[in-house]
Amino acid sequence: MPCRRGNVLRTFRSRQSPFVSRNIYVLALESSADDTCAAVVSSNRKILSNVVAHQFQDQEKWGGIHPMISTECHQKRMPGTVRMALEESGMDMDSIDGIAFTRGPGMVSCLNVGANAAKTLAAALNKPIVGVHHMQAHALTPFLTSENPPQFPFLALLASGGHTMLLLATSPVSFKMLANTADVSIGNAFDRVSRELKIPWGEASGSARIGAGPMLEKIAAKHPTSNPYSFPELPLAMQGSLGFSFGGLVSSVQRLITKLGPAATEDSATQAAIAHAFQHAAVGQLQEKLMLALRSCERRGIAVKTVVASGGVASNMYLRSCVESTMKTLGIAVQYPPISLCTDNAAMIAWASMDRFLRGDVDPYDITVKPKWDLGELHAPPE
Ligand code: AMP
Ligand code: ZN
Repeated sequence: MPCRRGNVLRTFRSRQSPFVSRNIYVLALESSADDTCAAVVSSNRKILSNVVAHQFQDQEKWGGIHPMISTECHQKRMPGTVRMALEESGMDMDSIDGIAFTRGPGMVSCLNVGANAAKTLAAALNKPIVGVHHMQAHALTPFLTSENPPQFPFLALLASGGHTMLLLATSPVSFKMLANTADVSIGNAFDRVSRELKIPWGEASGSARIGAGPMLEKIAAKHPTSNPYSFPELPLAMQGSLGFSFGGLVSSVQRLITKLGPAATEDSATQAAIAHAFQHAAVGQLQEKLMLALRSCERRGIAVKTVVASGGVASNMYLRSCVESTMKTLGIAVQYPPISLCTDNAAMIAWASMDRFLRGDVDPYDITVKPKWDLGELHAPPE
């Protein structure tokens, strides 16, 4: 019945928002990488639920994210995760005004799990949908969580398992890429070095595990910083240019481990010293690029007052203290989402969709995912 479907799509495309005078409630789904997430968030910044099903145990033996395992885990867990998010929020689908999902970037088969669940649920229940850019959502999280949200323009440092980028944000939908990684992401580098150092994954509460990156941070913290390294300092990559590279750093650590032999992984002091040296070099690269980006903004007359650091690696305490001390010297404030919202979550996806739901500027049910999605092509609000 094409006619009926056309009417429904036209209604949802309408720019007249049906929700303007009250709070609205969004159910959001995120499945772009290795976390299956669902959350319910209201337009007055309340996170009613935020459920994350990690895949640590499933992925551990692969030493990275295996797309097929990840897709299978999302397929198994998405229904239960959505159920739990609704139960924890105390809401049912009748009270949900719209459904948001991560449209990209990410692994296509993973993105499709969340997108198809969201679209089918929305079509069956006659609810509007919005497809969200994952990195925009990371950058906008402080607007959901902070008492004192950043003023535009600000710099967003997004350091995650899939990305390392510096963005200049001039509005909620206007982001200019200032620096990107030429090879692997900083999160991937932490995970690979942790594996090379044979650092075991840790136990957290219940059956949860602490992954490779946070475990490397824990081991690195055991190195007494007053102690000089007994090996050469690891190099800072691409010095003086606005771009990241972590591949060479990982190779340097691999060469160092080979040179030191079994002591590198079996002697805890040596293992901690290498972990610290790697973390120091990786974070040093972020600090240098932040300084370069700020100088470049200053030259162009752009007054940046805040840096927002988000993504899983931004929960690293060494990174936070180094970035904060560098920025303090320049009078720049640093904001982070709470640690639980630095890593992938659906609350940030719900929040990034909110403005579009409020404007009634929603997507059609036949929308497809965008595994590669340039932040410069974000959906701009209609004139
Ligand atoms: P995301 O892709 O935003 O979910 O972030 C996941 C990535 O962040 C993975 O590569 C993790 O190993 C890394 N990560 C999470 N916490 C930390 C930490 N405390 N230190 C270093 N890396 C971390
Ligand atoms: Zn992410």
